[in-house]
Amino acid sequence: MEKELIVITGASSGIGKATALLLAKQGHPLLLLARRIEKLQELKLENTLCEKVDVTDRETFRVAIEKAEQKFGATGCLINNAGVMLLGSVEEQNPQEWQKMFDVNLMGVLNGIHLVLKSMIERRHGMIVNVSSIAGRKTFLSHAVYCATKFGVHAMSENIREETAKYGIRMVTIAPGAVETELLSHTTSKEIKDGYESWKKDMGGVLVPEDVARAIWFAYSQPPHVCIREIVLAATAQEP
Ligand code: NDP
Repeated sequence: MEKELIVITGASSGIGKATALLLAKQGHPLLLLARRIEKLQELKLENTLCEKVDVTDRETFRVAIEKAEQKFGATGCLINNAGVMLLGSVEEQNPQEWQKMFDVNLMGVLNGIHLVLKSMIERRHGMIVNVSSIAGRKTFLSHAVYCATKFGVHAMSENIREETAKYGIRMVTIAPGAVETELLSHTTSKEIKDGYESWKKDMGGVLVPEDVARAIWFAYSQPPHVCIREIVLAATAQEP
């Protein structure tokens, strides 16, 4: 398979970082994006450009992709992985947290798609992986706004897949259950965080980021005529 440029958002920790490590092992040139650029640089990956990009800032996002494409050629795959989960009940939560989730989880994903899709259509080639969640298929207590954003990711991913299938574009939605990462740490309610931690412990542990990275690789490594539309994966013991 041709080693084409793969762009990964939110590569400084968790699923994005594990995916970067796996794809680097496969020999792909990478563009890694996140706000904590030092975490990207610490990975010390060959053939890799690290850029400080907030996915809600379309202009720096655009400049980073342009720079990587000048160096490595056109983007073959974009992995829209950056996301935030700020759990809360709507009657208590600060509305700024809702805004943040809509901005990063939906606008950030749309920004990425907008920046690469036109060229992919012209080239009749490309893959976009959107990291959603099982919370994009069913609801969970204290997840109302997070679920709203992830249901949105599922919806736009499938909608764009239908629109671009005829151009040979593969749109993939990855929907993991709970994964051990930094994601929960940004939730401000201690009670919700503690409840989530004991739920994970009671089920005997959850997925690790490498489990999700393998699923992304599985979808990517299919021949171009095969589009894995969605992968839903969770720890075997996860009930909902
Ligand atoms: P982490 O918190 O470990 O990673 C999130 C990544 O997103 C970080 O690299 C962070 O980088 C980046 N990020 C956050 N905000 C921005 C922003 N505004 N601009 C650019 N990058 C940003 O969590 P996960 O690895 O778990 O999350 C990855 C994805 O997986 C998310 O979309 C999440 O919703 C999804 N997911 C996670 C599950 C889980 O249980 N962990 C389950 C299902 C889905 P930095 O802070 O350096 O900018």
